[in-house]
Amino acid sequence: MKHVLALDVGGTGMKAALVARDGTPLHEARRPTGREHGPYTVVEAILGFAAELAEEGRARFGEPPSAAGVAVPGTIDEQDGIAVFSANLGWRDVPLRRLLTERLAGAPVALGHDVRSGGLAEGRIGAGRGVDRFVFIALGTGIAGAIGIDGRIEAGAHGYGGEIGHVVVRPGGPECGCGARGCLETLASASAVARAWAAAGGDPTADAADCARAVQAGDPAAAAVWGTAVDALADGIVLCQSLLDPSTVIVGGGLAEAGDTLFTPLRAAVAERLTFQKPPALVPATLKDTAACLGAGLLAWDLLSTEVTA
Ligand SMILES: [Zn+2]
Repeated sequence: MKHVLALDVGGTGMKAALVARDGTPLHEARRPTGREHGPYTVVEAILGFAAELAEEGRARFGEPPSAAGVAVPGTIDEQDGIAVFSANLGWRDVPLRRLLTERLAGAPVALGHDVRSGGLAEGRIGAGRGVDRFVFIALGTGIAGAIGIDGRIEAGAHGYGGEIGHVVVRPGGPECGCGARGCLETLASASAVARAWAAAGGDPTADAADCARAVQAGDPAAAAVWGTAVDALADGIVLCQSLLDPSTVIVGGGLAEAGDTLFTPLRAAVAERLTFQKPPALVPATLKDTAACLGAGLLAWDLLSTEVTA
């Protein structure tokens, strides 16, 4: 049976799957990246894991995967298949597509960015199924995003398309890791909420989930912290709406786990700010931590359909 290999390389762990044509995972596996041993070990771990998965595919389905997709963090050159830089994994200019193609006996390989791959999966087979214009926002340690247009993700001219976390929503605001001030991620990421709530409550171990629980319990200090994040996020979403006019905004990442505690005030804050723009459907992501892996599988299948029509 025809299938593809999908691999999501995270900071600490890798998720892999053999994926059917309709996006269903047929076999799944996880393994550590071994990043503590340096970038060469990570690359070797990726290649070895992929080769084992291909063997698994051959044993189970009578043929090796027809193609492979791999999603990695950091800066990537999708065109040339190069993992340009990742602070987490410590690598620079790794020709990952070529190395994987060699290890997989010439199978075509697609290299994708982890958040954009996750966005692709959410848009095509997750929360945005059937929607052709969407924005995916992941609220985690930072804030990352992906712009979905016509069944694909727009990466931009330099691979930085969708960086909504670095849209300045509070000029002169908190300093951001990117060097600017008042970026959305300094106010509305899960880490930003955790920091603000820890400062407000005096408990340095408090996290964003604790803050959400305190909001639900009616704590006014938590409500103030939460409100700051919701307002900043609403400003960012309205900017997306004015610029891109998506029909759906899919919100994922740690902070989205708060469910209605986030979505109810967020929908209201966005509605309040819109003037002429049509409101987007604001929905929670559904694929959770498998999104990037499933997206890598979609990239692999897209590679095959391009080959057939080319
Ligand atoms: Zn920034």
